[in-house]
Amino acid sequence: MNPQSVWDALKEGNQRFVEERAEHPNIDQTRRVSLVSGQDPKVVVLSCSDSRVPVELVFDMGLGDAFVIRTAGHIVDNTVLGSLDYALENLGCNLIVVMGHQSCGAIGATAAFVDGDMQIPSGFQRTIIEKVAMSTLRAQKEGKRDRSDYERQNVQDTVRQILARMPNLNQRIINGELGVVGTRYLLDESSIEPVVLHGVV
Ligand SMILES: [Zn+2]
Repeated sequence: MNPQSVWDALKEGNQRFVEERAEHPNIDQTRRVSLVSGQDPKVVVLSCSDSRVPVELVFDMGLGDAFVIRTAGHIVDNTVLGSLDYALENLGCNLIVVMGHQSCGAIGATAAFVDGDMQIPSGFQRTIIEKVAMSTLRAQKEGKRDRSDYERQNVQDTVRQILARMPNLNQRIINGELGVVGTRYLLDESSIEPVVLHGVV
């Protein structure tokens, strides 16, 4: 499967999910046994950890179909990049999907901090607020004040960070070997809103 056909399959799976005709593929005992010896996912997904955004369900995928990395606000650190690198180099994934979502708590908390309605968190959550604040401030500088715009900006910036820190990916996109997609999942519609597309349409 090339990057476009992987992306098309994800879009079709999401459409089934939207229309409540999910097939829940690749979860039976035969599939489970076949996966004991190894995995061959074609897509690596970096998603927010939010309980309302279960990646395999949203795209109607099964076991062994997606290599999934999840952090609150889909923030990027070296462990995330290492996981991405493993999925691309060792597992042969040819599509990266970054998935933010409507009503993201990480964005909401960051917006409250940036707007002065909340103190800087002193605990471990500070790391998340610090990272998301970069994109929230950028959105505000461009005159955007809507939380959905902050969510889209955070998706865009996550994709930008991945491509900047793993520069070899850009040539693979040009060669047609890799697709990179930034999306925002809409809780109220169960659908995927494309935010940025590289190498696929
Ligand atoms: Zn979230």
